Amino acid sequence: MSELPLTPLTRVRRHPERGSHDLELIYRILDEAYLCHVAFVYEGQPIVLPMAYVRVDDRLYLHGSSKNHMLNVLAQGAPACAEVTLLDGLVLARSQFSHSMNYRSVVVFGRAQVIAEASAKRAALAALCDRLAPGRSREARAPSESELKATLVLALPVHEASAKQRRGPALDDDEDLSSPCWAGVLPFTQSFAAPEPDAQLQPGTPLATSVRRLLEPRSRGAQGLE
Ligand SMILES: Cc1cc2nc3c(=O)[nH]c(=O)nc-3n(C[C@H](O)[C@H](O)[C@H](O)COP(=O)(O)OP(=O)(O)OC[C@H]3O[C@@H](n4cnc5c(N)ncnc54)[C@H](O)[C@@H]3O)c2cc1C
Repeated sequence: MSELPLTPLTRVRRHPERGSHDLELIYRILDEAYLCHVAFVYEGQPIVLPMAYVRVDDRLYLHGSSKNHMLNVLAQGAPACAEVTLLDGLVLARSQFSHSMNYRSVVVFGRAQVIAEASAKRAALAALCDRLAPGRSREARAPSESELKATLVLALPVHEASAKQRRGPALDDDEDLSSPCWAGVLPFTQSFAAPEPDAQLQPGTPLATSVRRLLEPRSRGAQGLE
C-alpha cells in the first residue's frame, strides 16, 4: 500500500525514526483501537473530546446527537485533528528521566463532511455498530427514521495523517546500567471480561453470536485486542 504525502503538519520532527506515513500501518492502528480523541478550536479555545469511530476505506466516521456541539462545528468545515493511541507497554528505566511508554499512535488532520444521504448514513451507522462487535448490526434493530434524523454522521478523510510508534527497552544512560534498580518493559494488553447480561433480557435469550465471536481467543487476536 502507499505512503501518505508528507505535509508541514505531518512531518514527525521529534524522534522522526519512530514516525511513519505508511497507509497500511496507519489503517492497522486505526482498525485496532476503539476510541479516538477529536480536537477542534471553538472561538479560540482548543477543545478535545473522546469518541467512538470506525474507519471505512479512507474515511473515519464519527457520529453523535444532531445537537452535538463539536460535530456541528466540524460540519461547518472547521479544521479537525483526531488521534488514536494503543498503549503497548510501560517502559521502566533505572533513571526517572528515561521512563517511557511503548505505543502505536495515529494523528489525522482534516475537515469533516456531513453524511446526509439516508442510505450512506445508515451504512456508516451499521459500520460503527459492527466496529464494536463484528456482525452486531445484523443482530440489533436498525435506526428508525426519527433516530436517523436525531443523529449527525461525519466523515473525516484520512488523507493527511501520521503514525508514530515506540518499541523496545528502556534507554538508560551507560552510567546508570550498574544501578540496582529493576528496569524493563511491562507489556500492556486489553481484553474483555465475562459478559454481564442485561437485567431485562427476555428469558432464555442466548449470548449474541457477535459477542461470542469477540470472546473467542482467535477473534480477539484478529481484532488486535491481544
Ligand atoms: C502513549 C503515549 C505517551 C506519550 N508520552 C509522552 C510524554 O510524556 N512526553 C512527550 O514529550 N511525548 C510523549 N509522547 C509522544 C508525543 O505524542 C509526541 O510525539 C512528542 O511529545 C513530540 O511532540 P512534538 O510536538 O515535538 O511533535 P512533532 O514531532 O513536532 O510533531 C509533528 C507532527 O508529527 C506527528 N506526530 C507527532 N507525535 C505523534 C504521535 N504520537 N502519533 C502520530 N503522529 C505524531 C503529527 O503529525 C505532528 O503534527 C507520547 C506518545 C504516546 C502515544
